[in-house]
Amino acid sequence: MSKWQELESKYFMHTVNRVPVTLVKGEGARVWDDNGREYLDFVAGWAVNSLGHCHPVVAEALAEQAHTLIQVSNQFYTIPQLQLAEILVQHSCLDKVFISNSGAEANEGAVKLARRYGKHHLKGAYEVISAIGSFHGRTLGMVAASGQVKHQEPYLPLPIGFVNVEYNSVAAIKSATTDKTCAVILEPLQGEGGVNLPDDDYLKEVKEWCEQKGILLILDEIQTGVGRLGTLFAYEQYGVEPDIMTLAKGLGSGVPIGTIMVKDSANVFAPGEHGSTYGGNPLVCAAAYATLKYIIDNNVVDNVRKVGRYFTGRLEELKNKYSFITDVRGRGLLLAIEFDHEIAADVLNSCLENGLLVNRVKPNALRFMPPLIIGNGEVDEAINILDKVLAAV
Ligand code: PLP
Repeated sequence: MSKWQELESKYFMHTVNRVPVTLVKGEGARVWDDNGREYLDFVAGWAVNSLGHCHPVVAEALAEQAHTLIQVSNQFYTIPQLQLAEILVQHSCLDKVFISNSGAEANEGAVKLARRYGKHHLKGAYEVISAIGSFHGRTLGMVAASGQVKHQEPYLPLPIGFVNVEYNSVAAIKSATTDKTCAVILEPLQGEGGVNLPDDDYLKEVKEWCEQKGILLILDEIQTGVGRLGTLFAYEQYGVEPDIMTLAKGLGSGVPIGTIMVKDSANVFAPGEHGSTYGGNPLVCAAAYATLKYIIDNNVVDNVRKVGRYFTGRLEELKNKYSFITDVRGRGLLLAIEFDHEIAADVLNSCLENGLLVNRVKPNALRFMPPLIIGNGEVDEAINILDKVLAAV
């Protein structure tokens, strides 16, 4: 056990089973451990480091802002926050922005907003329908929203007001809708649940249903947003416009940030009804603004589409070669391969030994979510390592 692993087991709450590596440095799609060992990073902080590690544009924005103004309360106007709000609104179908510190907190705010909407427009309706297999965060409210028994069971009883229904079934949403329903919350594609894609019409039909019933559609784009699927936001690929959208992860390229975005028609918060001490502070907003501006100015989404297609093709080659790979799925640079038995942990460990970081999204599936700026060369490198590892399985 290394000195750092000893410190962790002595002082840190054991809420995660860590990979036995202490990372000390990152650059682009690569990270280094405390022994100087290099790894190709196809986890990217769980789909966070959109521009890779320590991209100069982000590092410089952070350094400059750190020397200028880090944090004041939201009683004051601050410039990076407003620049970020402007660029987000100008490039999306939403009209207004609130900035939080994380994804779960953004979703909590989105549900609060939907409940306020319910009070204003739906005779006090407060219930939110979500999908089984979804993941919306770790707060108690979001544990109730996330349709995963393993996250819910340890914390029963859960807060009321959430109904989990079968994923990818419009009928399930329809039959769960009552006069208490104020919103439906969905990930456009389930990330943590295993990179589960819906049928092409699912979101469109859910949106039509929401419109018919006068309830809100909240899209949780915390994992899919900011270019990850090959468009700036995933909703663009499914032909729907959400009433509320949440972002986090890739938005800040590593700094803790989340956003609630809303259409004017659902923007019912009044002063004092929601807030945050740190949310939207100049430091994180400078990093997020630099990230988003870089992604837009450099058409990074085009790279995601091209490299994503190439990566998918190379994974398909592996599937043709190894009969125990049963599926290759995903969009853009959020991809997964599934095995016919539970070998993901072993494959992950062998990848690690060979200098590649990947994520085990299910006991029988690996997820890949590399930085959005990688090229085909890095894909080839990852595929060569995977090929070598899988050959030995
Ligand atoms: N929503 C989705 C779709 C996520 O993938 C995640 C995190 O994995 C969250 C919400 C929670 O975000 P955070 O960990 O920043 O609270």
